[in-house]
Parts: sequence; structure tokens; C-alpha cells
Amino acid sequence: MDNIVNTDHRELMDLFTLALINKFIFLGALPIFFIYRMTFSHHQDGFWKQLRLNAKNFTIALSSILLLIFLNSKFYASFFREHKELRYFTNPTFPIYSVVQFAFSNYSSLDSKISIIGTDAIIPETDTQRDLIIMVLGETARSERFSLNGYYRDTNSLLSKEKVISFSNFFSCGTSTAESLPCLFSNFGVHNYKRTLALKTENILDVLKHTHEVNILWRDNNSDSKGVALRVKNEDFRTPALNPECDEECRDVGMLSGLQKFVDDTKEKDILIVLHQMGSHGPAYYKRYPAAFEKFTPACHTKELSECTLEEINNAYDNTIVYTDYFLSQVIKFLKMNSKKFETAMLYVSDHGESLGENGIYLHSLPNMIAPVEQRKIPAIFWFGDSILEDIDVDEVKKISHERYTHDNIFHTLLGLFEVETKLYDSRLDLVHHKNILNTDKGRTVL
Ligand SMILES: [Zn+2]
Repeated sequence: MDNIVNTDHRELMDLFTLALINKFIFLGALPIFFIYRMTFSHHQDGFWKQLRLNAKNFTIALSSILLLIFLNSKFYASFFREHKELRYFTNPTFPIYSVVQFAFSNYSSLDSKISIIGTDAIIPETDTQRDLIIMVLGETARSERFSLNGYYRDTNSLLSKEKVISFSNFFSCGTSTAESLPCLFSNFGVHNYKRTLALKTENILDVLKHTHEVNILWRDNNSDSKGVALRVKNEDFRTPALNPECDEECRDVGMLSGLQKFVDDTKEKDILIVLHQMGSHGPAYYKRYPAAFEKFTPACHTKELSECTLEEINNAYDNTIVYTDYFLSQVIKFLKMNSKKFETAMLYVSDHGESLGENGIYLHSLPNMIAPVEQRKIPAIFWFGDSILEDIDVDEVKKISHERYTHDNIFHTLLGLFEVETKLYDSRLDLVHHKNILNTDKGRTVL
């Protein structure tokens, strides 16, 4: 229900296909029409007689079901335990229940004010070097498709030439943009996170703002910030108005246009720039990269995935990763140009992963409880400029980069990079300046 409300018309058009219209008409509208036109004659022989007949049929049906389950109890016991999601598929009341629950949880959050956090945040005067940090928010990128994480195809030909650190065992908070974004910027942690609560509470961007020492810019080539960047400077790069790199659609790399001016115009303060990518958003993977980036062929060139082979779908998806590899290398190039004046760093992390046909599942957004690992295991890649390396023990960061982490770590890692002092900061969750790093596991911080 959350995803229905949070999907914009562009995403909707990617999902709107002829097959969908056909299914809607022939499997939905027409049967409903015929059933509606049918006339039933109820209890011709009197109410009680009909009730007895119904009760008899019901009892026979129920006993048959129970008998069959009993005879195959060994199979069903493990089957239902292994496939808890079945109760969502078979129960027609579940969507109705969800609508009511969704309406209530959103209604209750309408009137309340934003809770303020981290007002004690300061950057001490001893931090004299200015920071320029670019956080790239990936879209639908799955960890295992990056050759930096061991993928057999070369999808990182450019990043592999840079001194990057790839966290190969990193998990997202949720499986959709709307769920993951407020979580990864919040201080609740995957385990305690509730979207409605997170949107009513200030996030890491606000805490950095409280220091009065960080100039923040959010550039979006995706749908929007999902409520995260409402209180910071926000620019829309989905149209040619600001984005000079538009053909079939506006490209992620266009978000770097005019960025130098923003950096140059910022006097004295540190800078945080968030670039929210279109990335690998499906099902129209082929639209997500310019023709020159079609490295793996044949690639699926329709949004109706059922018309393509698995190989074609995977080729198109992998090409989106090749384009992200290029985009990130351009971000690093931009940071290198500013590394004399600033302590620079890039943090790239995706919002969630993607299913590409494993067990017949495609796309993302399954509830965490039942989501396959492909939808939650995401890339997280850091790069550091030369001057910031005085403050960072890169070997130590590399050493811990294969442990399990989650979006929980981003809040504290950003505080650490900007050297912010606040009671909210937990160095045990800071991936860069950690002391006694903790592994954060999916759904729970392991303490
Ligand atoms: Zn997303």
C-alpha cells in the first residue's frame, strides 16, 4: 500500500504494459461483469433447509481438507514453515487489512510536529580543514553484480582503477525507496525503524545543519527524497531545465553539472552533496543507460520482462551497473579536482537490491520478512581523497570491509567524517573512524 501511494507517474508508466491491460480486462473486469449479471435464487426450500444443506457441504469440504493435510502432514508442516508468505498470497482479506492499517498509521502522523534531535552537535574549532563529501544514493543496485564484489563480469572497469573500498556484505534497511531512504538517514536503526516515526523526526541532514558548519545540497534524478531532504536545498534533475544530459531520459551524470559553482560559492563551511540516482530502476532497465553503455548483449529492450529471456534481462540490468560505474568514476574525478582545497570523500550506497528471476521473483518491494537476499544485499563503496587520508586509517577500514553492515552505519559514519561532536554519535557504528566496530546484521544491530 505504501508503494502504491509513493509511486509517481514516471514509475507507473514503466509498469503500464499491454499485457497488464489485457489481464485487467480478461481476468478482472469481464469475470466481475458476468458474476455481477448472474442471478442466484437463495433458499427456495426455506431458510433452515438451505442452512442445513450448506452446513453439510461445508463439513464435508472441511473434513476432506483436514484429512488431506493430515495424510501429508510431514510435507505441509515444513512447507508452511518455509513459506510463511503464503498466508499473504492466499488470504484475500490481507490487502483490505493493509489499507486500513496504512490509513491509520498515516493519519496519526498528520498533525504532529517534527521531533528535533542532535541540537548539541558542533564541529570543534580544532577541525580547520574543510570537508567536501559527496554521498551517492544508488537505486536498485544489487551487491553481487559489482565485479568489485566478485561478479564474474567486468562491470567495474573504471572503479577498479580507483582506490575504492567496497563493503561486500552490506544490507539495506528496506526493499523500496520509500522505506529505505528515511531509514538510512535516520538514527533509529533498522531494528527500531518505523517510516511514519522517522518522517516525524529529524535526520542526519538536520543534525549536520545544527552545527551551522555544513552546507548541504540534495540533487535528485530519481522520484524525490521521500521526505528526507525537505529542510535542505533540493534540486530536481529529472528534466532538461537543470540537467544538460538528457536524451530518452535525464542521465545521472547530469547531476554533476554546475556543481563546481555550488562548491566555489560556499565560503568557509564544509559541504555535503547528496546525489540521488535513477540507477538501475526496473523493469525498463534498458532505458537507464545511454546506447554507448550497452556492453552486454543481447539486452532486453522492453519493459515487459516476460517477453525477454533471462539472459537478455540480466544483460540489460548489468549494463545499468556499467553506467553507474561510469557515473561514480565521474564523481571521483570531480572530487579529485577539489582535493587540494578540501578533504574529500565519496560514499556510495544503494537503497535496496533487486530480484532478477531467482525463484521466479522479479523487481523489489517485498516485505522484509519475506524478501529474498537479492533485494537487500546492496553495494556500499567508499573513496577518499589524498588530504583526508591524514585522518583515516585506510588499512583498518579495508580490514573490516567484509563484515556485515547495514544502513544503520551511515548516520554515524557521516557524523564521523564531518568530525561532529554530539551525544548521538556512536563510534562503534562508524565505518571509517570506528573503535571496536560492531557488525550490524539485517533487522538487528548485533550488540
Ligand atoms: Zn529504490
